[in-house]
Amino acid sequence: MNDCIFCKIIKGEIPSFKIFEDEHAFAFLDINPIERGHTLVIPKFHAKELFFLPPEELAGVMPAIQRTATLLKKKLGCDGMALSQLNGEAAGQTVFHVHFHLIPRYAGTPIDWTPKTPAPTMEELAALHRQILG
Ligand code: 5GP
Ligand code: ZN
Repeated sequence: MNDCIFCKIIKGEIPSFKIFEDEHAFAFLDINPIERGHTLVIPKFHAKELFFLPPEELAGVMPAIQRTATLLKKKLGCDGMALSQLNGEAAGQTVFHVHFHLIPRYAGTPIDWTPKTPAPTMEELAALHRQILG
């Protein structure tokens, strides 16, 4: 039995605000963002860390990362986009299904890796989702 929460998100067993999906990848809003628009892009193939992801699955997810980053930049009007990917508890990984963080960046604002408090409400995430997909 697979208890992975990100596999459940891909299957729709756990709800998410989906930004993009194709054969290889799924992108959705992070529920505990460090920046408005913080989005996770994940391969549909379950691997707990990058070390265990078959290269062809990595190659499959890269276009989705590029496409999602481009969409976020266009719809949010940010100046830049950070891409981060953590492997292992020592690196700060908390969900053990490979994922890529896309974090919108604004000129003159250093990145702060602490999740924003309070976390956005479901209504705020829904409004953001409409803004990105609209
Ligand atoms: P990590 O620290 O493992 O690189 O990042 C895991 C990310 O997954 C965190 O930014 C966290 O907010 C996000 N996250 C954890 N559980 C859920 C969830 O159920 N739904 C969504 N949308 N994001 C989640
Ligand atoms: Zn998984």
